[in-house]
Amino acid sequence: MNTNELWQSVLGELEITLSKANFTTWFKNTFISEVDDKKITIGVPNMFTKAWLEKKYSKDIIMSLQNLTNGNIKQLTYKVELKPVNVQNIQIVEPGAAAEKELENVSFLTNNNEPLEIRSGEFSLNAKYNFETFIVGKQNELAHAAAQAVTNQPGGMYNPLYIYGGVGLGKTHLLQAVGNELLRKNPKTKILYVTCERFTTDFINGLRSGRVAQFKNRYRTVDVLLVDDIQFITGKEGTQEEFFHTFNQLYQNNKQIIISSDRPPKAIPALENRLVSRFECGMLADVGSPDFETRVAILELKCRAKNYQLERNILHHVATVVQTNVRELEGALNKIIAFHQFKNMRPTIESVKPILTNFQPASIKKTITPKQLIITVAAYFDVQCEDLLGKSRQKRLAFPRQIVMYLMREEMKASYPSIGTELGGRDHTTAMHAYDKISRCLTEDEKLQHDMELIKQRLYAL
Ligand code: ADP
Ligand code: MG
Repeated sequence: MNTNELWQSVLGELEITLSKANFTTWFKNTFISEVDDKKITIGVPNMFTKAWLEKKYSKDIIMSLQNLTNGNIKQLTYKVELKPVNVQNIQIVEPGAAAEKELENVSFLTNNNEPLEIRSGEFSLNAKYNFETFIVGKQNELAHAAAQAVTNQPGGMYNPLYIYGGVGLGKTHLLQAVGNELLRKNPKTKILYVTCERFTTDFINGLRSGRVAQFKNRYRTVDVLLVDDIQFITGKEGTQEEFFHTFNQLYQNNKQIIISSDRPPKAIPALENRLVSRFECGMLADVGSPDFETRVAILELKCRAKNYQLERNILHHVATVVQTNVRELEGALNKIIAFHQFKNMRPTIESVKPILTNFQPASIKKTITPKQLIITVAAYFDVQCEDLLGKSRQKRLAFPRQIVMYLMREEMKASYPSIGTELGGRDHTTAMHAYDKISRCLTEDEKLQHDMELIKQRLYAL
């Protein structure tokens, strides 16, 4: 492994722990500038990045470097230096390339707090996200089928298409796959892919600079609008209003709209009713965590794409240990590949096992407190914690309260009397009843199963 490959591996590891915007903001155009015995110098594009990396990320970077070099690297320094041309085109280990692409779509603050807008061309789709590279399993077949149907008839039956589910489960991939496929069929199609944040900043910038008309023109004249992570529109009234009108204009003209979110429309706090009903009038499709077979299939595909071979028992081991989401699965694979390339050895089950110790399922890693649980459930259902502990039996409170009791029993193995006590001094029979009821509902209510999955994901992501 050369220094470039080493740095790509470090980035691959860092990426899974950071938000895309953070990752791309701070790590774009960084590279290993020098290696001097045990000391590594990272080249960075400006002083601001240098200061920020020193302060915030040095520990993570050094840990990752040590990990990948078997403890060889002991010291880390930074130097402001332009990335040499010959490494400029080398892509960050996937899915970093996607993130890099996305950087072109974020505006961020420079050291003198001047907003710095980085403009991209009209289309910001990553060609890697297509249907060929998407593995279909039970947990995503509906979303996949709907996405494909849209490519056959944009603006048709499935409009809007609303795809929801937890992080790293392929929502962005599907959104962009539709865009790419439509472009392939007709390169003239005007497709706009934006994150919700991007829509918001564009709108605000438009307002500030008196160029709202341009903003409207940009968004309301496309054939296909793809909006990623719409949940971030919560609490932004002006943006919601603007989005409502954009939506209507496109919808009336039979233009296709696809939206992604981490939860169903009704569960987005403070989302205007009229938007909820717009989102619900098309097709809602969820994506869930992949099952074992799908995880193996995804690993096989990613290995093929990287032209790397892993034996079946190793693939099975990875798929057993990493259960949470596809992004983590990719992270684990990148780590295994980097480690073995660096050591120049063939992976065996023995050499792979220690690398995956950090990928234990979240539930084993973390202990949850009743307080965290109550806060998470209250936030999910958009109710106040005090109300969950209070006396009111309104359905909008009683149901989340029962979910809290169920999870205390299921995830924390708490006793019924202690559950009653934690929830504002209720009787233990109330806790028993809640547990039974939710358990029963879970066997038949798919929406509840999904809500439960999302709540758990958030609980363990705290
Ligand atoms: P989300 O937007 O839901 O957080 P992404 O679409 O960014 O998730 O997916 C995370 C990573 O996992 C991406 O690199 C994506 O290509 C990959 N991925 C997700 N689902 C699948 C799948 N079913 N088949 C192949 N790759 C997938
Ligand atoms: Mg996404």
